Amino acid sequence: MEDADCVVIGAGVVGLAVARALAVAGREVIVLEAENAFGTGISSRHSEVIHAGIYYPPGSWRAQLCVRGKALLYDFCASHGVAHRRCGKLIVATAADELPALQVLMQQARANGVDDLVALSAAEATELEPALVCHAALLSPSTGIIDSHGLMLALLGRAEAHGAALALCSPVLGGQVGSQASVLEIGGQTPIRLRARSVVNAAGLDAPALARKLRGLPPASVPQDRLAKGSYFSLSGAAPFSRLVYPAPSASGHLGVHLTLDMGGQARFGPSFAWVEARDYGVDPAEADAFYAQVRRYWPALPDGALQPGYAGLRPKIHGPGQAAADFRIDGPSLHGVPGLVNLFGIESPGMTSSLAIAEQVVALLAAGAGGGLVGHRQRF
Ligand SMILES: Cc1cc2nc3c(=O)[nH]c(=O)nc-3n(C[C@H](O)[C@H](O)[C@H](O)COP(=O)(O)OP(=O)(O)OC[C@H]3O[C@@H](n4cnc5c(N)ncnc54)[C@H](O)[C@@H]3O)c2cc1C
Repeated sequence: MEDADCVVIGAGVVGLAVARALAVAGREVIVLEAENAFGTGISSRHSEVIHAGIYYPPGSWRAQLCVRGKALLYDFCASHGVAHRRCGKLIVATAADELPALQVLMQQARANGVDDLVALSAAEATELEPALVCHAALLSPSTGIIDSHGLMLALLGRAEAHGAALALCSPVLGGQVGSQASVLEIGGQTPIRLRARSVVNAAGLDAPALARKLRGLPPASVPQDRLAKGSYFSLSGAAPFSRLVYPAPSASGHLGVHLTLDMGGQARFGPSFAWVEARDYGVDPAEADAFYAQVRRYWPALPDGALQPGYAGLRPKIHGPGQAAADFRIDGPSLHGVPGLVNLFGIESPGMTSSLAIAEQVVALLAAGAGGGLVGHRQRF
């Protein structure tokens, strides 16, 4: 049996941000990653957008941690040389009946502390982006894009500089959690048992399934896990816009097929939304028809044949079809009763933007011990 102070399970952007924050706070940290590289899960299959904090219900974790995380992320990128661009984004109403949705977003954004949105007429929006066709738009100047792999590399580098260690090919199979310490069973080529004072379950899509394998954790404290697939199509040829372009969100809360840019200036559209059962990352070329129709609502000049199947990501949902959208869950000891254990569930978008703020919460929870003691106004633990 080996001994450790803190174990972070999962080396995605959230696990790496948590590892860095714990290491900077003086904890000895080991990150256990099942795969043979870091960041191969959800964190490598998303839009790479630094979100402003517009879409989420005021007071929710997603709203608070996105706004806080955005500020921390821009600072971190600037001070650690992570490629990013505060390119801004336009949220567009493509029909008159979508105008009220923009007003709702404006009010919600203000309630979330995002007070830099600018309402634009169709003419003002077209002046910024001549290829755009819309009834009206909101400009979000603080939305940006980022090299997400560069971010993870920098987080890992800072964690390691403060003494953290990353163990690849080290799947956590289960364990026993309890009041004294947790004992994790780790597979791979040389299976071991590891006793840890603190454990952070940042296993992304696998976080609920892994939590169910932790003996001593009340089963009722683990949410359901569902998958929602999002596919992207890339645009061949030059990008028609210099800012990101999002349609007004649908009543279901799905942000819609939007245009994002990568750091190389390549444009892609997505993600679509489909509840799925299996972990399948294939992009169905037949989905292109729906993409053409949706994109042409704000960019009618999209040429035939310009969209190519790109990649797909899976959202780690903890609610199912027809149920109210779940918030992030950062479940600490006062929620589930196990000292030194934090489970991170449902960390979907804007999880990358929020990663540094989520890490702050985890550090505070573990520092506070079983008592809770949260930063922020929403006492959940
Ligand atoms: C389609 C889509 C678009 C998105 N767009 C954006 C966006 O534009 N902006 C934004 O801010 N957010 C976005 N998000 C959300 C963001 O991508 C996620 O919130 C974030 O990447 C989650 O990171 P994570 O570290 O929790 O999970 P992951 O990156 O999946 O990391 C979990 C890690 O745990 C490992 N693991 C799993 N089980 C075990 C085990 N038993 N033992 C050891 N290791 C294990 C996995 O191999 C993996 O490496 C998007 C998400 C999706 C799906």
